[in-house]
Amino acid sequence: MGAEQKRRERGLVFVISAPSGTGKTTLVRGAMKQLPDLHFSISYTTRSPRANERENEDYYFISPSIFQKMVERGEFLEWAEVLGNRYGTTLASVSQLVSKGMDLILDIDTQGAKMVMEKVDQTILIYILPPSLEALRERLVKRGLDSPEIIQLRLASARKDMEEAHWYHYLIVNEKIDDAIEKLKAIVIAERCRKVKDSILGEKMREWEEHHGKNYC
Ligand code: 5GP
Repeated sequence: MGAEQKRRERGLVFVISAPSGTGKTTLVRGAMKQLPDLHFSISYTTRSPRANERENEDYYFISPSIFQKMVERGEFLEWAEVLGNRYGTTLASVSQLVSKGMDLILDIDTQGAKMVMEKVDQTILIYILPPSLEALRERLVKRGLDSPEIIQLRLASARKDMEEAHWYHYLIVNEKIDDAIEKLKAIVIAERCRKVKDSILGEKMREWEEHHGKNYC
């Protein structure tokens, strides 16, 4: 854990959203490899695992009925339906890690991002854009995970999704993955410094009060 994090009592929550096929997973993994103090929040989903995905690493894959029970028990900080499947982040997983001072990355859609922003202080919203819709279509075809019908659906939903990008704090255009990783790292580091600055000021004020008493003005 870095010196900056030791100074903070609560961790930061970085929310990352992007239309699918934008390279968000590669981007997040690349940044996390170089910023080891960042933790990935594993979501629950009713979607089936893809060939390259691992249970308890990429997602917790659960049935629609279990998901529904979790909704009814109020276990989710946020949840949303995306292209016919449900996805959610539990309150427990976020609050446990954040209260220990750990910084978290949540890879969630714009509906979930809005809910997290309303409920969690210190949420930093980052939106990843593809260089163009045509580039996105090419990536989805090349990825080879979806049928042409699903690709059409993803493109239509991407267009709509990008209209939400304006209320995010940061935008990254993922044209070259290495550049995009650098930008994501820079955002994380800058946000950590912002909080460090606050706590350093707090410390300095306490030191000042100890030496001069409270009524020093
Ligand atoms: P995919 O099925 O491609 O893994 O994800 C589809 C969409 O669901 C992506 O936009 C992803 O960010 C979003 N998503 C993944 N986990 C969550 C979650 O816990 N909550 C919400 N609201 N969206 C999620």
